Order: sequence, then C-alpha cells, then structure tokens
Amino acid sequence: SGVRSLSPYLPGKPVEELAREQGLDVNAIVKLASNENPLGPAPSSLDAIERNLSELARYPDGNLFNLRDALSQKLAVQPEQITFGNGSNDVLVLLAQSWLKPGVSAVFSQYAFVVYSIAVKAAGAESIVVPARNWGHDLDAMADAVRDDTRMIFLANPNNPTGTAFSRDELTGFLDKVRSDVIVVLDEAYFEYVQDEEYPDGIALLKQYPNLVVTRTFSKAYGLAGSRVGYAVSSVEIAGLLNKLRQPFNVNNLAECAAVAVLNDDEYLERSRAVNKEGLQTVAAGLRAMGFEYIPSMGNFITFDTGGDALVYYQKLLEKGVIVRPVANYGMPGHLRVSIGLSEENERFLQALEEVKKVV
Ligand code: PMP
Repeated sequence: SGVRSLSPYLPGKPVEELAREQGLDVNAIVKLASNENPLGPAPSSLDAIERNLSELARYPDGNLFNLRDALSQKLAVQPEQITFGNGSNDVLVLLAQSWLKPGVSAVFSQYAFVVYSIAVKAAGAESIVVPARNWGHDLDAMADAVRDDTRMIFLANPNNPTGTAFSRDELTGFLDKVRSDVIVVLDEAYFEYVQDEEYPDGIALLKQYPNLVVTRTFSKAYGLAGSRVGYAVSSVEIAGLLNKLRQPFNVNNLAECAAVAVLNDDEYLERSRAVNKEGLQTVAAGLRAMGFEYIPSMGNFITFDTGGDALVYYQKLLEKGVIVRPVANYGMPGHLRVSIGLSEENERFLQALEEVKKVV
C-alpha cells in the first residue's frame, strides 16, 4: 500500500511526443524543462564513447576504477569515499534504502527536490516536511524538527525547483546542531554552477562532520544527463555500507568513460558555467521586464510566478513549441520552472511567454 500511494516522478515531455501532439517540427521545439546542459555533450565525452564502443559486449568495471581514480584526485578525497550511482537519483534512493525503514523518519524542506519524499516513502519511513522560508530551506526550523526517530535529513543546495541556496555559516551552524547519528544528505546537483563566495563546498566539510554525505552529478554542468552518472562522497565507513547495497553494474562502461573525459575537460565546464551565467541574467531580466516575479536562482533554471494558473501558461507555451516545467506537484500551482538554454532558446522562450501573456 506504501507503493500504491506514491506519486510518480514526472519527467519533462519528450520533444518527439510534443511534436506529434502539436503538429510541430521536432527541430522547432525548444526544450527547457529538465535542467539539461544546452551545449549538448562535451566533444571529449563523445570521443571517449566512440573510442570505447567495442567495450559494449563486456560488463562494466563494477568498481569504476578509472572514474573513481580521476574523481578522487579531482576532489582530493580517498577513492574509498565515493559511491557511484545511475545518476545521483540512484544514490539518493540507495541512501534512503540503507538508513530508513518503517518506524523511523526523515526530514526535508517544503519545495525540496521531489525524489526525497519518494525515496523516504518507498523505504516505508515517515517524512517530516518543514515549511520553507523565502522559498528556501529554513535550517533552524529543520534542526528543531529532528525527532528521536529521525535517521536522515535531506538538504538541496541549491534546491530544485526554487534555485535557493544557503551559506557556509548557515550550513555549519545547522550541522553543529544535528545529532551525529543522523545522516545529513547534502545534494549538490548544481554545485558547479554556483559562483558565490559564501556558497559552501560540502566535500570540504566531510572531515569535520562524519555524518555528512554529499551527492553530485554529471547530469548538469558536465552535460551527461542521458548517460546517468552520479555519486556520493562520504566517510569511508558510510561508503562501505552503500557499496554493499549498490548494484555492481549501476554505471555502464560508456557512461564511465564519458564522465572521465569531461571531468578533465576544464574548457567545457567553463563554457557551461559562462553560458548559464549569461542566460540566467537574460531570462531574469526578461521576466522582470514583463512583470513576472521570479525566485533568484543559483542553478541552471529559474522558477517564476505566472500570477495565474501555471498550467494554462504551460499549455500555451507548448503550443508554441516551448517546453517548460510546471511545479504544481511541489505545491506551487502558479509557478513554472524554465531551464536556462542557449541564448537563442532563451529568446524563443521569452518571446513565446510575451505572446502567451497577452492572451491569458
Ligand atoms: N538532485 C537535484 C536537486 C536535482 O535537481 C536532480 C535532477 N533533477 C537530481 C538530484 C538528480 O539528477 P541525476 O539523477 O540526473 O544525477
């Protein structure tokens, strides 16, 4: 019955489906619905995949020696501190499965990334949802919400879908208050995009807080959403437990070599960040000029208030070939989330929104 009560994760509509529904050319569709990297995959990843295609008949390396080695050097952690997943989503679910069960609880914020509530429910545990403050995590209230039966806390920094982030001082103040037997999962899926002095690097805090687990992904700034590679960095003890439960081949061999290649491709990462920074400014300015209120974002997306029924806007944007993301499932029925695209895609979105605004 726990499973029956789950609401499924709703991914963005595929362009082929929309094209067929709306009678549009696939190439004319702008998809800004899933916080993907608009640059497409890095040429370095594509080269690596091409070079390794002949590996397809072989099982992947279950321990991911090459990626583990490259990542542990890049992050200055021990290789044994890393747990890989089929996207960071997989790692989040693995964490919940490992620590949660019926009779215990997990804490997360209102408007937090939806996978936390799904993972907690799937493990049979209780969710304690703490009201947000200014659309972001109210860390004081979250620390106060921890009960004796709480085993895990999920934090997203920046958060999806609101784009909000908390500072290093706020995070360490929170970690100081939390019991050491409660696992704090710090989801940094958008880490690489944030350019703010006050923004904490969770991995740098692991030594000080052994109950901290940081998750990151190759899906966003590294442009590999489709190949599914994410990871957790934690103490060796926690990683040891997670690796016992992890499916041995949860990252395939082409995904691994694509990730190794882009991890060393500083130029691609810099380009991703620059395109995103400029796009965030353009989209924010466009929304402001049209009079829409938006939540200032540290990620590769912006969530804005349509001032009406967001689904009407969503539908009318679809009819113009622009796919964005409704966030009604987060309890935000008036808001839409738009991912940052290439400059021409951002302009298409703003133009379409301007036209839609006139008719609703
Ligand atoms: N955490 C957050 C906050 C996210 O927004 C996403 C992507 N929607 C993920 C985790 C999972 O991403 P992936 O499984 O592709 O690594």
